[in-house]
Amino acid sequence: EVPVLAAVDLRKHFPVRGFRSKQVVHAVDDVNLELHRGRVVALVGESGSGKSTIARLLAQLMPVTGGQLLLHGEDATAGNRRAFRRYVRRVQMIFQDPFGSLNPIHTVRYTLTRSVKIHQGRLRGEELETALSTLLQRVQLTPPERYIDKFPHELSGGQRQRVAIARALAADPEVLLADEPISMLDVSIRLGILNLLRDLRDRLQIAILYITHDIASARYFADTTMVMYAGRVVETGDSESVTQDPKHPYTQLLVRSAPDPDDLDARARGARGEAPSLVRPPSGCRFNPRCPFATDVCRAEVPPLLPVGEGREAACWGYADRPDRPVLGSVLDA
Ligand code: ATP
Ligand code: MG
Repeated sequence: EVPVLAAVDLRKHFPVRGFRSKQVVHAVDDVNLELHRGRVVALVGESGSGKSTIARLLAQLMPVTGGQLLLHGEDATAGNRRAFRRYVRRVQMIFQDPFGSLNPIHTVRYTLTRSVKIHQGRLRGEELETALSTLLQRVQLTPPERYIDKFPHELSGGQRQRVAIARALAADPEVLLADEPISMLDVSIRLGILNLLRDLRDRLQIAILYITHDIASARYFADTTMVMYAGRVVETGDSESVTQDPKHPYTQLLVRSAPDPDDLDARARGARGEAPSLVRPPSGCRFNPRCPFATDVCRAEVPPLLPVGEGREAACWGYADRPDRPVLGSVLDA
């Protein structure tokens, strides 16, 4: 099956500000991913690993430095205006902070009406009311008349995120890019939002990219999990296997050295020092300075994603069939 949206060798380098600086931040390098109808892919990694940059590239909010975006197999980066408009309608984004992404001076009615008119044409009267009610029902804000004339500040964080999702749904999207959609919400309502997204996946067959720090929520919600480290994908596979039996030393660190499963950044930092510079990333495997098993090959050559089981891949020389490969042990004992 052709993926709804695919990224091929995606790359984003940001120029470093400064006098005649020719340096760049290697935010994303050589990332490949596929989003399929009715499937959720989680993108997991610590702060600064490039997750939001990937979402912004996929939403075409900024140009790529290299690589391609394929919508139903067709190159979307070289497109004309009409192709671009179709793309940005098909691929919708949901942000971390629903308060920041909703205009405080607009009611729910105004926000949704605008999105409906942009994407579904000039509906009026009864037709428009029905469209608005349907959107609110889809995000379980019922009865719709209780919410339609509210301002963002009159809603809870979870309700605001539901309105943001409804606004995205007005475009009848095939892809939702959800960048940490629950991390700013109260813990008690997080599951409700994930379950809503799951319901949209199942009923509307939307493809979802779910960005998170929290590998436990990836396991709960996503079919596939991709782990990023310093701008590169280090591991990918079905969520259950990746979280239960991680193969890359970095993923093992994330999953296993877990005093506090919510605090992935502190865990990863605390265990093995700081994340590397993305201006001058470590040569070879970018994780090698923090990896207890690293050898010369790890410092010299970038490891490709290697097969490590049914539908699974890890970018670690430890899984290569070559004599100088490092011998992996337990990250916790190392
Ligand atoms: P977080 O979990 O904190 O949201 P992230 O994984 O989403 O992190 P990104 O926001 O994608 O990470 O950032 C990846 C790298 O790119 C970081 O080093 C960041 O400083 C850099 N970066 C992001 N946007 C820009 C920009 N507009 N200009 C320069 N550098 C940028
Ligand atoms: Mg981010």
